[in-house]
Amino acid sequence: MEITLELARQKAGELGKPKTFGQFIGGEWIAGDSGKTIALENPATRQLVGYIQDGNATDVNRAVEAAAAAFPKWALSAPAQRQNILRALAQRIRERHFDYALLESLNNGKPITDAFTHDIVGAMGHFEFFAGAAFYPHGSTADFADATMLVHREPIGVAAQIIPWNVPLLMAAFKLAPALAAGCTVVLKPAEIACLSVMQFIEDIADIVPPGVINVITGYGPVIGEPLVTHPKVRKVTFTGSRPTAQKIIGYAAKNVIPQTMELGGKSANIVCEDANIDAAAQSAVVTNIFNKGEVCSAGTRVFVHEKVEDQFLESFRRQLQAVVQGDPLDPATQLGAMASKIQYDKVNGYFDLARDEGVDIPMGGKPASVTGLEDGLFIEPTIFSGVRNDMRVAQEEIFGPVTSVIRWNDEAEMLRQANDTEYGLAGGIWTSNLTRAHRIARGLETGMIWVNRYYNFKPGMPLGGYKQSGFGREGCLETIDHYTLSKAVVINLEEPHSNYAVRAPAPNSES
Ligand code: NAD
Repeated sequence: MEITLELARQKAGELGKPKTFGQFIGGEWIAGDSGKTIALENPATRQLVGYIQDGNATDVNRAVEAAAAAFPKWALSAPAQRQNILRALAQRIRERHFDYALLESLNNGKPITDAFTHDIVGAMGHFEFFAGAAFYPHGSTADFADATMLVHREPIGVAAQIIPWNVPLLMAAFKLAPALAAGCTVVLKPAEIACLSVMQFIEDIADIVPPGVINVITGYGPVIGEPLVTHPKVRKVTFTGSRPTAQKIIGYAAKNVIPQTMELGGKSANIVCEDANIDAAAQSAVVTNIFNKGEVCSAGTRVFVHEKVEDQFLESFRRQLQAVVQGDPLDPATQLGAMASKIQYDKVNGYFDLARDEGVDIPMGGKPASVTGLEDGLFIEPTIFSGVRNDMRVAQEEIFGPVTSVIRWNDEAEMLRQANDTEYGLAGGIWTSNLTRAHRIARGLETGMIWVNRYYNFKPGMPLGGYKQSGFGREGCLETIDHYTLSKAVVINLEEPHSNYAVRAPAPNSES
């Protein structure tokens, strides 16, 4: 379909009318225990677009109990049933593709085109991929002279899933799809900053999923997080968000010793060699600067450019970045929208002050942007920091905005050392026409995802996740199912009973 600004504005008038969502527990929408709500805002206009419940521990307990009650039946459901349901979830998104893109744009400030072509397509893709994966967890057997061993793969139980505000519906799909495919029931906690799309999605699919399989609790993270993750009936936690929050959640998870999957931030290196296609490499720097306003964990925020091509790269990067259209996120021509929240807007502006203190050159941007007709909006100019040293704070800390640091290099081994000299290790890009070199650099990078000659080249089934403090566990792939299941070994003795009760230790290297 063709999206036009008129159509988007007209639909926004309908979908953006503030509506109040309850807590979704056991297949029903119920009012939260606190009786209080949290307002959701459009960061491009600062107008209210909805209300969610300000949840508390009582809501959490109800949701976990509902998920625990639904678990035994769902865990034993046929893979084909789970597959059909996952396909139906993808289909519901497809039917309202434009509406979800609009809701995402209205509550997060992202360009509607980003949401339409990336977030919503990715959400559908996740449900479709994991529809196939519903047949995957089927264990194995091994035979011995005196025994047969069965290794079952069983769903782990109730999963707590906590997601951020930057790609809300896509993140919900990241979490829900593998958990449901594996036979787990869930309590999902979306971000209080942006979750309109997620709440509408849950309303739209309530008739497809058996009651209690998906439960959704809204509220402030610190209030809900601890009772949710420490609930004795929660057997797994998956989290996407910031490292400080991850550290708290890992602490909560320690109470009942439950496993965790952590998808955290990044400060990814996008490496440009002197033999690269420089305009294409510069375009990748533009894309990672502006896409989703730079509020992307895997953005290539440190661009390492070989000194021989630095001037050429900077000229191309600047020229292409200047051509970027910043404006009303509802306009399909807009390429750079508004920051998702005032907190994020202030945080990014704070880094402009820091960059000046650190003596960084700012050949472009470095200040808030003004968009005609949206003067209250949280817009920031696309920004280049050049002459950056890797040990500067702007090169080490996650800014999460349309800001790129350009770092010069001339020695591959030293460049690689610096690229790895970060607490994070989520993604990376390599630009070269020499594939041997690309492989060598890729092998040397301590990072979970690497794209050669095209950044953000996400593929179905690609393991998504990080090294070091970017987290652990992988999403978006078959391995994810392993995180939602446990193996159980059953060894069946084939010998007649006898009186020798000696323990038989495995002796893999002996003849006996
Ligand atoms: P955040 O950690 O503040 O919030 C994420 C979620 O955690 C929200 O739902 C929030 O309510 C909840 N939360 C906050 N405090 C909590 C607590 N004490 N217990 C339990 N839950 C709590 O992060 P954010 O600022 O919303 O998101 C941005 C960050 O997320 C960035 O650092 C970004 O890099 C990261 N991120 C990572 C990925 C990835 O896949 N690796 C994807 C998106 C975002």
